[in-house]
Amino acid sequence: MSFSQLLGSCEAAKQLETLSDNRRLPHAVVFESRDASLAKRAAVELAAAYLCESEGKRPCGVCSSCRKVRGGIHPDVYIVKTTGGKRATGVGEIREMIADSYIKPNEAPGKVYMIFDEMTPEAQNALLKILEEPPQNVMFIITTVKSTLLLKTVLSRSALFKIGGDDDTISEEAFATAVEIARAIPQNIELPLLGATSVLIKNRELTKQTLIILGEFCTKALEQKYLGESGYEDYITGMSRMLKRDSIVRLFDVVSQAQEMLSHNCNMNILITWLCANIREARSSSRR
Ligand SMILES: [Zn+2]
Repeated sequence: MSFSQLLGSCEAAKQLETLSDNRRLPHAVVFESRDASLAKRAAVELAAAYLCESEGKRPCGVCSSCRKVRGGIHPDVYIVKTTGGKRATGVGEIREMIADSYIKPNEAPGKVYMIFDEMTPEAQNALLKILEEPPQNVMFIITTVKSTLLLKTVLSRSALFKIGGDDDTISEEAFATAVEIARAIPQNIELPLLGATSVLIKNRELTKQTLIILGEFCTKALEQKYLGESGYEDYITGMSRMLKRDSIVRLFDVVSQAQEMLSHNCNMNILITWLCANIREARSSSRR
């Protein structure tokens, strides 16, 4: 699969293809997308392109390296795991990654580290050090729903590619539904949440769009918590005031998982029931 097959014919796809084919891939790449699973797939393709054995177009998709990367079994491609039940990658995990990045690759000429989870500011500061003086033949790929969640210093050391989502048209109904859900989330009673999500059961497209907006709301709520600024919409402020940071990160995760389930064509009744139960659980961790 080429980048334009994955991402559609956009500027980012063109640039990635040119950089891959000319073997000029940067050592740090940020993929920004509202669609978290698209960003992960792009990261895997980029890792494949970086380690591909082909002399021609990369990733070729047929060499042993490409197949291993796509199969998730390449010994020189790492996903930085967030440990200890946390939802954001901390400074410990990043330091471990940095130490590991100086060790020689197992079989490929280089190594790739992929960071899919949100990172704490401390973790990003630690990451910054290695981005300033990266080891040779190592690539770091970061995915994010919103690049503004990353420190400016990290962004300035990385190549940013905004992918997918831009030409998605979000209906007013989806936006209104997301607002209703966002207002229901911090409430202790179940009825508002059940009411707000009930319209989704019969409408797959509406659900898809609503989840995208909900993901953005979580990001905004986190941003507000982090920056402490006012001037956000009431439903964002409601989430950011009533929920702990961890809960918002969990919620964001729940929304991403629901998007993934939706993309696998799961049963809508099951999906919406799952969504409500998991929103409830993420929310209740705030009151513990
Ligand atoms: Zn290949």
